[in-house]
Amino acid sequence: MRLVHYGQLPQTPAAMTPIDSTNCYLERALAYLDLDEVVRIALLTPERELRVELIIRKDDGSLGHYIGYRVQHDNARGPFKGGIRYHHEVDIDEVRSLASLMTWKTALMGIPYGGAKGGIQVNPHELSTAELERLTRRFVQQIHEFIGPKTDIPAPDMNTNAQTMAWFFDEYSRFHGYEPGVVTGKPVSLHGSLGRNEATGRGVMFATREVLASDGTSLEGKRVVIQGFGNVGSFAAQFLQEQGAQIIAVSDVRGGIQQASGLDIPRLLDHVKRTGSVVGFPGSTAISNDDILTHTCDILIPAALGHVITTANAPRVSARYVIEAANGPITADADPILVEKGITVVPDIYANAGGVTVSYFEWTQNTQGFTWTEADVNARLEDYMKGANARIQSCRAEYGVPLREAAFITAINAVKEAAEQRGIQ
Ligand code: NAD
Repeated sequence: MRLVHYGQLPQTPAAMTPIDSTNCYLERALAYLDLDEVVRIALLTPERELRVELIIRKDDGSLGHYIGYRVQHDNARGPFKGGIRYHHEVDIDEVRSLASLMTWKTALMGIPYGGAKGGIQVNPHELSTAELERLTRRFVQQIHEFIGPKTDIPAPDMNTNAQTMAWFFDEYSRFHGYEPGVVTGKPVSLHGSLGRNEATGRGVMFATREVLASDGTSLEGKRVVIQGFGNVGSFAAQFLQEQGAQIIAVSDVRGGIQQASGLDIPRLLDHVKRTGSVVGFPGSTAISNDDILTHTCDILIPAALGHVITTANAPRVSARYVIEAANGPITADADPILVEKGITVVPDIYANAGGVTVSYFEWTQNTQGFTWTEADVNARLEDYMKGANARIQSCRAEYGVPLREAAFITAINAVKEAAEQRGIQ
C-alpha cells in the first residue's frame, strides 16, 4: 500500500503539499515515457527514510527535544546527495519532496550522485550557537551509519551554513576517521571549495543567461525582480546586474523595496550588512512580499520559500520569465496558468543546480586532496550549466514540451538508464 501512496496524484489540488507538487511534475513528464508500472512507482518512492529523535542539554540546563529527518530518494547514479535544512516547518513531506528534486537535479546536471535531503524541525534563531552545535552533533550521532563520502553526502540548506558543515565533518570523523568528503559546503579553510558560497546565485545567472540566449535574447537591460535576498537571491542579483540586467525590486522576510531606475546592488549589500535587511534602502520605496511576485518585470526570481506562486496569484504574475531559484516555489496547479500566459518557467532542478554542481567539485577536490582555483571552479560551473541547458533545449524540441517537462524527461531517462544498466535481481 505504501507504494501506491507515493504514486497517487493529489485529489484536492487546492491543498497541494510539496510532495504533491513534485510528484505531479514527475507524473507529467512520465506521461511521455513508456515505463513499466513498477519502475514508475519506484522512481516516485524514496529508498530509505530516517526519522530520529534529538535530545540536547540547553544552555540553561533544561532539555530540548527535536525531530530530525534524512530521506534518501535514489542512488542509481551515485551516492545520495542533498542539503540539511533547519526550520520550524520541516516535516517528512517537505523532506521527501526536496529529496526527490535532488535526484532529478543531479541527473539533469550529469553529476555522479543520487538524491537525498534532511532537516531538523527547529527554529534555529531560538537556539544559541553552542546549542546549535550540540543539536548538529546529536543529529550526526543518530545518522552517521547511513551517510558517508561514498554513501550519502549532506550539504547546507536553509538556515545551515559552512559552520554547520564543519561540526558535521568533525563529529562524523570521530566515528569514521578523517573524511572531509562526507559533507560539502564546508569553510574554505576546512576543505571547502572556492566559489561554493556564490555558486547557486552564479548558477542562477548562468541558467537565466543560457535560456534567454536559446530564445535569441540577452540579459542586457532586462528588468529583474527577486523575492529573497539571502545567499541565493543576493548573489544572483549581483551577477545578473554585472551582466547588464536591472534589478528593480527585491525583498526579504522583513519586506520589499523597489526602484524603477534599478537598485545599486553593491550599495544595497552594504546596507543589508549594516541593518540586517533590504528594508529602508535610501532611494527606494516599499513593496510588500505579496505584491513583489506580481510586479511587472521581464524576469521574476523567487529565491526564498517554496509554494509562493499558487493558483491565487499566478493569474496576476506579470513577467516574461520565472526563474525558480528557490526549491518548489510554484505549486503544480499554478504552473499551467503561467505556461498558458506565455511565461517561460525555468525549473528549480536546473535554475538552482549551481550549488550542488560546485558541491560536486568540492567533493572531487576532497577525494583528490588537491585544490582548484576559483577561476577554474567558475569556468567548470559555466560548462555544466551550458551543457544542461543544451540537453533541456534538445528535449524541449524533441517532445514539444515546456522547459520543466523537458528537464524532468531528461533526468528521468538518465536515472532509468543507470538503474537498468546496474540491473535488478
Ligand atoms: P537564506 O536563508 O540564505 O536566504 C533566504 C532569504 O529568504 C532571506 O533573505 C530571507 O529573509 C528570505 N525570506 C525568508 N522568509 C521569507 C518570506 N516569508 N518572504 C520573503 N522572503 C523571505 O537561504 P538561501 O540559501 O538563499 O536559500 C533560498 C532558497 O534557495 C531555498 O528555497 C533553498 O532551498 C534554495 N536553494 C539554496 C541553495 C544554496 O546553495 N543556498 C541551493 C539550491 C537551492
